[in-house]
Amino acid sequence: MRKTLPVVFALMVSPTVLAEVVALKGATLIDGSGRAPQQDAVLVVDGERILAAGAPGKVKVPQGARLVDVTGRTIMPGIINAHGHVGLVAGGQNRADAYTRENVQAQLLQYERYGVTSVLTLGLNRDLVYELRDEQRRGGLPGASLFTAGRGIGAPDGAPPVPVAPDQVYRPKTPAEGVADVQEAAAHKPDFLKIWVDDVFGKFPKMQPAIFKAVIEAAHAKGLKVASHIFYLADAKAVIANGVDALAHSVRDRPVDAELVAMMKKRGTFYVATLNVDASFFALADDPALLDDPFLTGALPPESVQQFRSGEYRSKVAADPNVPKARAALENAMRNLKTLRDAGVRIAFGTDSGANPARIPGWAEHRELELMVRAGLSPMDALFKSPSWKVSTGLETIEHNQCRFCRIGNLNTGIGAAAESFWLKREVYFGFAELASEYGRVFNSNYRLGGGATLGTLVDITERWKVGVSGTYLQFPLGEKSHEWRVSAQQRYALHKNFAVRFEFNQRARTQEYLLNLHAYF
Ligand SMILES: [Zn+2]
Repeated sequence: MRKTLPVVFALMVSPTVLAEVVALKGATLIDGSGRAPQQDAVLVVDGERILAAGAPGKVKVPQGARLVDVTGRTIMPGIINAHGHVGLVAGGQNRADAYTRENVQAQLLQYERYGVTSVLTLGLNRDLVYELRDEQRRGGLPGASLFTAGRGIGAPDGAPPVPVAPDQVYRPKTPAEGVADVQEAAAHKPDFLKIWVDDVFGKFPKMQPAIFKAVIEAAHAKGLKVASHIFYLADAKAVIANGVDALAHSVRDRPVDAELVAMMKKRGTFYVATLNVDASFFALADDPALLDDPFLTGALPPESVQQFRSGEYRSKVAADPNVPKARAALENAMRNLKTLRDAGVRIAFGTDSGANPARIPGWAEHRELELMVRAGLSPMDALFKSPSWKVSTGLETIEHNQCRFCRIGNLNTGIGAAAESFWLKREVYFGFAELASEYGRVFNSNYRLGGGATLGTLVDITERWKVGVSGTYLQFPLGEKSHEWRVSAQQRYALHKNFAVRFEFNQRARTQEYLLNLHAYF
């Protein structure tokens, strides 16, 4: 995580700390306004207050301020997790007796330590949660700000299939029981209501539509918003048609369609992708090196680290029939998140951390950011949109006709599309239709102009560093009439969101060439 994501530098100076003016210098600053990150920023903090933030020339650092060099780090606003849990896991296990004041408190502190400053605990809470929340709002309980959906409403002998005490979830058998449960929950003034509509890979009976219809209506009558656990596209549409306010997970059985997009946009329904949920089934078994990172192990009790390191855990994951389903679900979830985001659906951030030992509070939120970027959400490192334009220009030295080292200039534009897979880390397959022009004395009539196509693939090695191979065929009917095959191996290092430096080795029909190019993508 830390290798690829900014470390959150959470600003939570407790009031007991002696007020001292501190100037943090050299960080990349994401100021929360939606502006692009600022490099080499200065941030001035006085006790609990941020006095100023911005470029070094523009921010005045008060005399006597303590200077702290945070070069290479990122300062960003606290993360708001709209789907988390507390008090479900203790000592590396889901336990019905885990919901204690001490455990909840420790988990809120852990969230805060990882820069998650607010968490909405979306169900499976004992009523103790209201006491803790109210105590915190009076200033008596440190840690991430606690918002809660209380117990939540599931199905009898169905979802959520988690070992909890009977007073941690309602399981109404009829619409009338569902309404009574909403009324009891509403008396505690929860911040949200949660329902579960899922058969958990076909294993359990699902909540009946008549029940969720009655529950959503009753909740709205009490002024409560409702988030629904879903897996299937059909269930997502059914709960939205009945007025649900947020989908608490991704649609994962199939690609989302225009009907869902239209429903969500019309009603302003929020979408919380929780990509971490599906990844948590296999990520630690697939990539045990994650367990060498103190950023992860710092979020786990030692017995969990032992457990995840064991061969026994990896065999269990390898034998779990739900794991291949979770892999497919993650691919669908990533594609759907990108589709819904591009379509303008409202996206909220959430992870389902704390629901089981592999969904790790604090760490999961950083993992989720990484998965969202891989899903193509952030343009910071995205290569192509679909379709996308490219323009490139440069100087080349080629062997052509009778000239051995001939300098030519080129200008090349194209329109293309890309697809991706996640077999290794991330692979992008792309195709471009191109117009190409080349100028130089080596050509008869000093130029040639034509077009053709490129097909290729790029593989991510790190967030910024990619390698790839591609093949191009160009036909030049104007200027010097000719045609050419090119095969190319490239490496590309991203400098900024739309710029990249590329070093290429190209094998043409008769010659080899080396190119250093600056590319701009739009
Ligand atoms: Zn959950």
